[in-house]
Amino acid sequence: MGSKPLPPELFDAVQRHWGFASLRPLQEHAIRAVLNRRDSLVVLPTGGGKSLCFQAPAVVQGGLTIVVSPLIALMKDQVDGLTRIGVPAARLDSTLTAAERAATFEGIRTGTTRLVFTSPERLVNTEIFRLLQSANTHTIAVDEAHCVSHWGHDFRPEYRQLARMREFFPKASVHAYTATATEQVRRDIIQQLNLRQPEIHVGSFDRPNLTFRVLPRVEMHAQVREVIDRHPGDAGIVYCLRKKDVDEMCAALKAAGYRAVPYHAGMENAARRATQDAFAAEEADVVVATVAFGMGIDRSNVRFVIHAAMPKTIEHYQQETGRAGRDGLESECVLFYSGQDFLSLKWMIEKSGEEGGASAEYVATSVKHLEEMARYCRGAVCRHKALVQHFGQTYDSPNCGACDICLGDTQEVPDAMTVAKKILSCVARLKESFGTAHVIEVLRGADTAAIRSRSHHQLTTYGLLKNVPKNDLRDWIYQLIGQGALVQSGDEYPVLKLNTTSWDVMSGRSTIRLIQLARRAKRSADGGKAQPFALPPGADAALFEMLRQLRRQEASRAGVQPYQVFTDAVLAEMARGRPTNEDTLKRISGVGEYRAQQFGRVFLKAIVAHCLRTGLEENVPLPKVTPGSRAALGPTTVAKPSAKKELAFKLFRSGASVEYVAKEAELAASTVTEYLAEFVRTQKPPSIFAWVSEDVCERVAAAAEIHGVARLKPVYEELNGEVNYDAIRIVFAYLDTRAA
Ligand code: ADP
Ligand code: ZN
Repeated sequence: MGSKPLPPELFDAVQRHWGFASLRPLQEHAIRAVLNRRDSLVVLPTGGGKSLCFQAPAVVQGGLTIVVSPLIALMKDQVDGLTRIGVPAARLDSTLTAAERAATFEGIRTGTTRLVFTSPERLVNTEIFRLLQSANTHTIAVDEAHCVSHWGHDFRPEYRQLARMREFFPKASVHAYTATATEQVRRDIIQQLNLRQPEIHVGSFDRPNLTFRVLPRVEMHAQVREVIDRHPGDAGIVYCLRKKDVDEMCAALKAAGYRAVPYHAGMENAARRATQDAFAAEEADVVVATVAFGMGIDRSNVRFVIHAAMPKTIEHYQQETGRAGRDGLESECVLFYSGQDFLSLKWMIEKSGEEGGASAEYVATSVKHLEEMARYCRGAVCRHKALVQHFGQTYDSPNCGACDICLGDTQEVPDAMTVAKKILSCVARLKESFGTAHVIEVLRGADTAAIRSRSHHQLTTYGLLKNVPKNDLRDWIYQLIGQGALVQSGDEYPVLKLNTTSWDVMSGRSTIRLIQLARRAKRSADGGKAQPFALPPGADAALFEMLRQLRRQEASRAGVQPYQVFTDAVLAEMARGRPTNEDTLKRISGVGEYRAQQFGRVFLKAIVAHCLRTGLEENVPLPKVTPGSRAALGPTTVAKPSAKKELAFKLFRSGASVEYVAKEAELAASTVTEYLAEFVRTQKPPSIFAWVSEDVCERVAAAAEIHGVARLKPVYEELNGEVNYDAIRIVFAYLDTRAA
């Protein structure tokens, strides 16, 4: 590709207005297409940075860029946000007052406005196109372009009218932006929008900052709360299947003291609007919603997305989880799955065919999508890999470090074949006439009236799996159904039945696998973390919290959304680098001149005060952290041992983790741990919580009071081997500096 470098004015503008020091690779290509007036289709996952692709070139050119956007509410926020960073933008929508309208027209007429946002129907059906024509419109950007396709998840008929815009703006180039990955939707966009030999830029679909987990659903409410509790004060979405589930879940969360609000299509417009506003303004933390809750979400710091049940397709799942971590910070997506989900969704789809008149083709396709989704849930491959491959891309890393499979949350059930045979023969002995609950009771040897009255306690399979917890057993039965080795049939009172695969398993001709939660997953899930979920190593958690409070105040004072003041990513960098002057502040990616001027002083003051109070170092140089600090790090320079130690010390000073330093300095983890102990002993940092959680520190200190710090082993044993030697060594070094 003959890729001329982009003009320097463009980089200047990106730095000045947005505060970004560089463009992401795909953004460069996408921006070049706009500047070259070459139609394009840009496919980037949520959070990939699509908006900059049309906003930045608009700023450095004369004339006008039209942005077509589906939601009026988002338009207003986007325009407010751009105005705030010094970009002349305006909107044309039905909610403008007469005075606002006049001002917008004036800006367009005089040529000061660079970007105008409008809806598809307004662009095509009103006279405003004359005004826009006369203002030298050279670029049309269609945001959320998948809305034009009925194959997408968000079809909007009014987008179809955009086919006509070419008549009105024959000279303008047209650029479509979407996060939807499917080939079918892509083709549809090109055709419906009449794109002319478009350049097509498709980004990687992997979202390295998201951790994906699929867990068997055993106690939905308790499990959902467990996830929320891992993210105190953070924003999240809980997706439920039905309106009724939304109402129940939301009520339960509220009753338990969470700041939760509901959202589903059955609610009045005003009530839905209220939910969106409360969430955007950070007055609510958790939105409990059906899939209807989607594009209107304008919050980049969603830290968790929970699916209380399996979604219908992998596309839906990707869209919905995509709403987490748009700011690039670590976020978590947990799907609670039960084999029952597949069955009830399938039943709903089939009913829509029989009673709702959906075509046979539609039913068949939907069931196929459902099967793909269920396969994902049951699968034992890396979730990142599975998702990326689903969208036709490759994933090379052998361990993503960010999914239940790679993190070892689940493990194979030992001797799964024997377990499976026991379950299947129990179904056979019960003459394939009983449901899951009864089969479980028999296998566990329960003493119930139902069992005694039918003499099921005399079956040879009675009590065969006595020691297996009920929930595990239920989950395994669903896993067997999922793998086609068992069938559940009948709608109201479904019974378990065998098929040929069942007999193949029992005779050993087919094999199956069963999975269970690893014990240590439970432990790591609920604690041991020194840092709040999203923070990079070295960021001071207390400061981050303070800055968040401050942001809320400043936002309501300035009448904007909190993220328009600074994103979470920016606050995290502040908590890490602790800038105390405008210069170091502006060096943080995402600050820029305009925001530094408007909000900088208040934040700097707070940081100075915090550092004074705590003795934390100010203006720490910031090693670059790639999204999800586990992701591959940039090239490193080879250094001599002493230089490496120096580098390690420097990184420790900014709170970098042992793994990070090991990678950056190309050292073995054991060497880095030694260096860290030395660092703690000689440099006496005020705290070691960046490396050892507060809880572990306390436990080691308590054990050291009994056994002293001469030897590691007694302390290790005192703590039942639950704290590793490395952590004990670091805490000892720390206690050493306190004792002196
Ligand atoms: P999308 O519309 O694709 O979901 P956004 O345009 O909302 O993505 O951008 C996602 C996030 O990435 C925003 O927080 C934005 O500030 C940030 N971002 C975009 N481009 C860059 C860049 N070149 N450097 C650093 N951050 C960027
Ligand atoms: Zn993985």
